[in-house]
Amino acid sequence: MSVNENSLTEVIVDQRPEGLRAVYLVEVSDAQEARTLSKLFTDLEARVQIRQLSTGKLVSYAVQVHDSESSILGEMERQLKGNYGFVITQRSFDEIIYRIVADLCADTSSKLLPIPRCCICGRTEPFPSVIVNLSDEQGQVRLRRDYCASCAASATATTNKEFVRSLLASDGKHIRGIEGAQLVRRRSGNRPIRFKISR
Ligand SMILES: [Zn+2]
Repeated sequence: MSVNENSLTEVIVDQRPEGLRAVYLVEVSDAQEARTLSKLFTDLEARVQIRQLSTGKLVSYAVQVHDSESSILGEMERQLKGNYGFVITQRSFDEIIYRIVADLCADTSSKLLPIPRCCICGRTEPFPSVIVNLSDEQGQVRLRRDYCASCAASATATTNKEFVRSLLASDGKHIRGIEGAQLVRRRSGNRPIRFKISR
């Protein structure tokens, strides 16, 4: 995406606590099975975060739940194994399981869906710990930056402003015009945190 960086006027920082994760890979035999499976996951959306990783014959999802809701992960696993012939589950997300999803997609002509990557270390990250959106005068988001939990944890800062500056400074994309600009906190409650970019 090509962005005129001088048109960026606001930084919006959304932090999402890391929870327990699982990945579910299911082979479906027809469109009806795919719909039933999709409903199973979308029905859970109020309680868990869901990111679909692939579609087609191999349908896969990454799920993140709050620690107190960990029983959902086992419930999901039991339901899937009871209803589908080929199910792989893993109680975490990492590059290895993502590679398995990609390989099985290739083998079954399924479609691997794009997922975010950490803009500092480059790892695939279905649930970024911090999302920084840079928007223009019209409130349109022009640039989205995703950061994983470990990169966010290594951003040394004592204030929210230093935190976002530290992330943007380590970002692989050099966003011109941010370092020299002032960030002015906007009243917006605690989530997300908003700063006006003042040049
Ligand atoms: Zn990272």
